[in-house]
Amino acid sequence: MTEIYHGAIEAGGTKFICAIGTPDGRLLYEERIATTAPSETMARVADFFCSASLPIARLGVGSFGPLDLDPDSPSYGCITSTPKREWVNFDLLGHLRKALRIPVTITTDVNAAAIGEYRWGAGQGLRNFLYVTVGTGIGGAAMVNGTVLHGRSHPEMGHILVPHDRVRDPFDGVCPYHGDCLEGLAAGPAIEARWGRPASDLPPDHPAWNLEIEYLALACVNWMLMFSPQRILLGGGVMRPELFPPLRARVGELLNRYLGDVEQCVIPPGLGARAGILGALAVAGAC
Ligand code: ZN
Repeated sequence: MTEIYHGAIEAGGTKFICAIGTPDGRLLYEERIATTAPSETMARVADFFCSASLPIARLGVGSFGPLDLDPDSPSYGCITSTPKREWVNFDLLGHLRKALRIPVTITTDVNAAAIGEYRWGAGQGLRNFLYVTVGTGIGGAAMVNGTVLHGRSHPEMGHILVPHDRVRDPFDGVCPYHGDCLEGLAAGPAIEARWGRPASDLPPDHPAWNLEIEYLALACVNWMLMFSPQRILLGGGVMRPELFPPLRARVGELLNRYLGDVEQCVIPPGLGARAGILGALAVAGAC
């Protein structure tokens, strides 16, 4: 029997990770391509898949966004209002379908990661969970009854408004749309702008971390109250293992046992940094 191969793209603001793997989650080839101008990046992406010795039957894409994911919309599969100017309104789905001439399924990067965790990671066996990444932005996906939630658009859990104590934290926030929404206060660029150093350079005892825990705990409480998830998988470059115990403790304090011992459901993703590309591979299988 001939083996079937699927393609996967984790399309990010700094790099596109392209991979070829099997429908059961084995990644065989992988290449990282810098995100520059769309024409240049997409030519290299097409070249990776077209010159591969293994023919791919389908392609799954988890992309930065926001994306238009309304199948009835004329701009379905396009990137919409990204700060990356050259990519605004770029028809990522249409471009890939035309270049590769195979079925392509697209979703957001966090939706793909949630689907990957559901298939092969910490979401296995769960019907309802959230996958949230805290890195250069904050994005979240909601797995609800075994499918990722799509409403009018995909959820934007990073842009929720959380209480902002300006005495404790006079920083205005960096979200270009809302200033001090969660992402504006707690994503990597906010930490760097507030403290003058990137999060990766801050020692564990730096006051940045207590503030970060406060904002993430407030967000987790709101997400728990709204979605009633069995787990919240919290990943991304800002999340360090040592943040989880104090974060769970603060979530427990804020909820005051209203939902039981739910703070224990805040855990790291099972696939770690591989959630995105494995998720895109899982999305390919869902074509
Ligand atoms: Zn915002």
